[in-house]
Parts: sequence; structure tokens; C-alpha cells
Amino acid sequence: MLYKPFQDLKLSTLGMGNMRLPTVGERGPIDQEKAREIIERAYHQGVNYFDTAYRYHGGESEGFVGKVLSQFPRDTWYLASKMPGHMMNYKDGKLGFQGYLAGEEVRGISAIFEEQLEKCGVDYFDFYLLHNVAETSYDFYTNEELGVVRYLLEQKKAGKIRHLGFSTHGRADTIRNFLDKFPDTFEFVQIQLNYLDWDLQDARSKYQLLEDRGIPVIVMEPVRGGSLANLRPDCQEMLKAARPDDSIASWAFRFLQSLPGVQVVLSGMTTMEQMNENLALFSKNDPVTEEDKALLQKVVAAMADLVPCTACRYCCEACPQGLDIPKLISMHNELNYSKRLGTLNFTLNAMGENELPSACLGCGACQKLCPQNIAIPEVLGKFNKALQDAKANG
Ligand code: SF4
Ligand code: SF4
Repeated sequence: MLYKPFQDLKLSTLGMGNMRLPTVGERGPIDQEKAREIIERAYHQGVNYFDTAYRYHGGESEGFVGKVLSQFPRDTWYLASKMPGHMMNYKDGKLGFQGYLAGEEVRGISAIFEEQLEKCGVDYFDFYLLHNVAETSYDFYTNEELGVVRYLLEQKKAGKIRHLGFSTHGRADTIRNFLDKFPDTFEFVQIQLNYLDWDLQDARSKYQLLEDRGIPVIVMEPVRGGSLANLRPDCQEMLKAARPDDSIASWAFRFLQSLPGVQVVLSGMTTMEQMNENLALFSKNDPVTEEDKALLQKVVAAMADLVPCTACRYCCEACPQGLDIPKLISMHNELNYSKRLGTLNFTLNAMGENELPSACLGCGACQKLCPQNIAIPEVLGKFNKALQDAKANG
């Protein structure tokens, strides 16, 4: 395992993300046996950074990860969790949840934080983040009266947080403003970074901003929810021609190895195969060359018409129709690329009317929760129209 220094710590460059643990059935609770094996293997192979959050796996992830790690000495692993301010609002002195948590009781920021410590079974978080500081949550996190950052700095002083940071899907200027608002406060920042988003979501500017300020970067979505591990055939061929023995996913990780400001690459591993492949990739430093980067740019150019969904499923929680939005978007991408129904027909035939894009009401509730700012109702509308056209044309 490769390690990099972080202040007085030595962090594994591969971090274990805990939002995509194996589940019982497609969307059921965590499959405890399988998930335990994966986390234990990560630990025994030298991974020491474990990332979770208040609502991962519907709130089950924190407690589960804490329980599995508790069998190992506390100073041999580092736990990161997050304050769910991106799902909260503060109006007229009242704190509330929004989105799919609307209506759930919030006793206060301190109650959430204490609940997280208790669920994880720890006295302190090694790393603690504000979850998704972005244009939609900026006012919440900077509200003087509520004082979220002030409260967390107090917890840091009290030893309950060792290192404070934030995750973000916001724009580079939003990140800059937030860092300026709280100077010398945040020790690390977690951003979505991969070779596709380098240009598509301007991850380049965010990375550059953080590197210029000497702030270590924790990477999320290194393979974009798996899509960079499973490119369409023409793109796969381009990469295979250059390095026949390498997996497609290895290109995404080697791209990140070429960025010196990257501290930890979080990978949400669902299977032991993914874990083993990642462990092998992070056992040697093999960054992409300039030639490799030029090839990746060609691959990105070929994929530019794809809807950039990472399958995080945030949107699904808000959908009154219960639509499996990432699945529909993935089908849309496939149809858009292949221009014919082909094997999609099998999937479509197995779906009920209430699961098809035609069931979308266009209400837009999903879009507000999408960290990738995808115009979901518009995409589903286009997909519906493309399906009708494809069917009409046989
Ligand atoms: S716009 Fe469509 S997909 Fe989005 S929440 Fe409404 S019904 Fe669901
Ligand atoms: S549409 Fe957006 S919120 Fe929904 S799964 Fe995709 S990236 Fe996540």
C-alpha cells in the first residue's frame, strides 16, 4: 500500500468509501457478512482511511463501519464522517431537514454530531467534514446565528474532531469564497476528481485552487460511480491498444496518481474483486505519462455526449414516483450511444409502466438533490421520446 504524510499521520492513498457497500438485494440493508469481509480485508492490506456519512446506506453505514473497525486498535485507523448540512435548512431560528428527510425531527447540530459519535462508537472523529458545501448549502453553512463551523471548531478544541474539512460538489468560485470566509480553518477538502470531470465539471480549477493553497485533496468518485471502469467498447479499445494488460479502471487511478495534491483516493468498493484490484493498483506508483494524458483526452472527447450520472442515488430519495433514476439515465446513455434498442429491449420488457421514463411527472424534486446538476426531468423526457421513436422505427 502506498502512503502519503498528512501532518503527523501517514494516510493510505487508497481510502475505503462506505456508501456502496454490498446490500441484501438491489436496494436492501447492508449485507453485513460481505461488507464486513471487504472492510476487514481493506484494513489488513494497509488501508487506514475510512469514509462514511450521516445518511450513507439510509443512515446504516456509520454504525456498521464503526462496529467493524472497533475490533482493531483505535490508533491504527482513521474515521471520517460528515455533518449533513446539505440536507438541512435554517429559517426563522428553526432548524429542519429538507428533501427526502423533510419532516424528520432535528434537535440541533450538536445532537446530530453526538449521535454520530455514538453510532460510530468513537470518542472522536479523525476527520470530520461539512457535507457538500455548494451553492445550495452555502447560506446554511455560513449562517452566523446557527454557527455550524463555530460549533465544529469547539468540538475540535475539545478533542472530538482531529481534522476539519469539507466535501463539495460546488463550483471553484464557491469553494474559494468559503475558504476565504473561514481562513486557516479547513485542513483538507474532498472533491469529485477524475479524468472525465477534469474538464467536464471543471475539476481542474478546483484542484488547482486547493493545490495553490496547499490544501490536501481527498478524491471522491475516482471512477465516476463505476462508469470509468466500464467504458463503451470504442473507448476501451483505445486504452487497451496502449496498455493491453491493464484494466480500464487502472487508467482512472493512474491519472490521480499523477496529481501531487491528491492525498487519499476514496473508492466505494462493493465487491471483493474491486477491492483486490484497487489494492494491487495502490501498491505501486505508476502515474500516467504525458502521452497517456493525451490518450485520455481523446477518450473524453469520444464520451462528451454522455449524461454524467455517478449513480449516487441522492435523487431517488425525492422521487414521488419511486423511479430508479440512475438506471434510466444509464439506459438513456446506452441508447444515445448505440442509436438502437438492441439488448435494452430485454431490460425494458422486464419493467412495468410505472418504472419507465414516461412515469416521470416532471416535478423536478430530484434535480435539486443532484450533485452533478443533471437536468433529470429533461433527460428523462428525451429518453422517453427516444424510446417512442425507436419503437416506432422498429
Ligand atoms: S421529475 Fe420525474 S424523476 Fe424527478 S422526482 Fe419528479 S417524477 Fe421523479
Ligand atoms: S442523477 Fe444525479 S443524484 Fe441521481 S444518481 Fe445520477 S448523479 Fe446521483
